[in-house]
Amino acid sequence: MKNLKEKILELKKQKNAVILAHYYQEADIQEVADYVGDSLGLSQEAAKADADIILFAGVHFMAETAKILNPNKKVILPDLKAGCSLADSCPPDLFGAFALKHADHMVVTYVNCSAEIKAMSDIVCTSSNAVKIVESIPEEVPILFAPDKNLGKYIMEKTGRKMLLWDGSCVVHEAFSLDKLIALHKKHPDAEIIAHPESETHILKTANYIGSTAGMIDYVKKSSKAKFIIATEAGILYKMQQEVPGKTLIPAPSNEDNTCACSECAYMKMNTLQKVYDCLVSESPEIIVPETIREKALLPIERMLELSK
Ligand code: SF4
Repeated sequence: MKNLKEKILELKKQKNAVILAHYYQEADIQEVADYVGDSLGLSQEAAKADADIILFAGVHFMAETAKILNPNKKVILPDLKAGCSLADSCPPDLFGAFALKHADHMVVTYVNCSAEIKAMSDIVCTSSNAVKIVESIPEEVPILFAPDKNLGKYIMEKTGRKMLLWDGSCVVHEAFSLDKLIALHKKHPDAEIIAHPESETHILKTANYIGSTAGMIDYVKKSSKAKFIIATEAGILYKMQQEVPGKTLIPAPSNEDNTCACSECAYMKMNTLQKVYDCLVSESPEIIVPETIREKALLPIERMLELSK
């Protein structure tokens, strides 16, 4: 009798489907995926996907981005409720009014936002390319950055560029406890702290390295150090450990006393292997983006992909 993973792999072939999974997905899902990556890598893969169906094992805004880039392909998401606290912190009506008030500003948005917000943007970025994209904008042009204020502050510090920030954030990356992190580091003084720029400034200040999920994996791989405390969603540890089997990876502790003592994204974890299978069988839930919004949202994404080559 075939197990669930074998059934998924068989169905994928039959239906000419591709599975794109984010690093924050559970290990079982990463194992059946054709590609596992961060937001930038996933957008690039989605843009060149040669399949009839894209099953996106991630959250809603990521599947939407895949649909914007692939209007003629069916894009499905295992659980439609897999949203994002950061994307939710930027409602289109409020943001639209804010952007209108600052109409002379160039709108740069972090990819973690809805299709409607992307449609109001001049250029989209991910944490991998945010600094490069902001640096590509002429000095005299004022910038409005949304939705993540923590990433926005980090970019301002890196580039020395002032930006008007939307007041949004991610609950997962704001859940790290500084006190517990310091206590953990005292226990492991030989460990380096590495953090995602969505984390709060006081956490970033403790970090030896700050970067995107792909950047963090690369750093740990190349580093001569053997022990790391990782401040981002704990799902990344699975892929990272595969890349550096001999190194010790410790998840940064969150404020909450949860079972794994680390910070997990509840939205990302809504997808399960069973839901991936069900979704492939029924080819639903399907992601639909109205064509008027898709067309407007496509341009800023394409600008980002062009600049990231
Ligand atoms: S970790 Fe935060 S930003 Fe990433 S999907 Fe989850 S809620 Fe959104």
